Amino acid sequence: MTVYNFAAGPATLPDPVIKQIQAELPSLQGTGMSVLEISHRSAMFDDIINTAEQDIRDLMHVPANYHILFFQGGGTGQFAAAPLNLATQHKRIALLDSGHWASRAGDEAANLGVTVDTIASTKDKHYQELPHLDKPLSAEDYDYLHVTTNNTIEGTAYHTLPEHGDVTLVGDLSSNFMAENYNVQDFGLIFGGVQKNLGPAGVTITIVRDDLVKPVEHIPSILNYALFVKKNSMFNTPPVFAIYATGLVLKWLKQQGGLAEIEEVNRKKAALLYDFLDDSKLFTNYIKKSDRSLTNVPFTTDNPDLDTQVIQAAADSGLMNLKGHRSVGGLRASLYNAMPVKGVQALVDFLHNFETQH
Ligand code: PMP
Repeated sequence: MTVYNFAAGPATLPDPVIKQIQAELPSLQGTGMSVLEISHRSAMFDDIINTAEQDIRDLMHVPANYHILFFQGGGTGQFAAAPLNLATQHKRIALLDSGHWASRAGDEAANLGVTVDTIASTKDKHYQELPHLDKPLSAEDYDYLHVTTNNTIEGTAYHTLPEHGDVTLVGDLSSNFMAENYNVQDFGLIFGGVQKNLGPAGVTITIVRDDLVKPVEHIPSILNYALFVKKNSMFNTPPVFAIYATGLVLKWLKQQGGLAEIEEVNRKKAALLYDFLDDSKLFTNYIKKSDRSLTNVPFTTDNPDLDTQVIQAAADSGLMNLKGHRSVGGLRASLYNAMPVKGVQALVDFLHNFETQH
């Protein structure tokens, strides 16, 4: 039975990448040593991390005045790193409350003594549409505006970034990193764990504009951007395997033709599922059409028992991990970069059959 994994993250990886990891695992480049065993100070790892950095630069067209850094600690670590490194002048940030992860970012900044102004929220609409600014913000008031480009749990995404004025934009791209093409120059800072679209759990990519990197006192070294720039992300032992595996996924993305092509395939995948859901008399996606995510699609029969039956029957057919986040319920299909079109087609066929039988 072919298995398709619709998990929200860690998530499905490209088959050729899994096979390459398997083939190379006992002996990397004929050295007789596994990537699991090599030193992060070795020439081999230097090459792995530098190549990964260059491939990110190529794929996202990252301008020369941006640094690409590799952290541990996930998006959650960056919820702390961003205010610690950037909210130093006004100690005040603005936030668009588009869902669970946006509000978690706000909580963490507040926890660190930063004032968080929630400029707009769609909480009262169950986050089924995105909040927008009603006027641009000024850098005189805020160190930055935090935006979650894709809301993993709720299934919304900013396909066009908010008109934010001259305030620095900080983007949490955790769930559509390189799945949807953004202009890096629109952001001062971008971050996200790789475990959804780009690799296994364990490494977080941070892209930060040079002028925002400055010495900051009394913050943990492990979250210090200036230090990580200086040490080329090797202030301490980096997650060697996760960076290696991410490097393989980056090569695979390049082979697919780059981010414009990837986004096009992701649009096609999302359209397949949304079109089915919009025609269905059993299943519904409640998200405002223009705000629908390409990578995370929540849907429901509006009957929790029936939803559970669908999830179970789908798993019996090899369509795994379709349970919605506990805060939303229902089902959720995550269609990250490595999910093939035929996986989405298999899901649509299954849902169609289920509907005919119920
Ligand atoms: N932001 C978003 C949008 C997420 O989806 C997640 C994880 N699901 C996080 C942040 C937290 O990331 P991590 O688990 O890597 O700390």
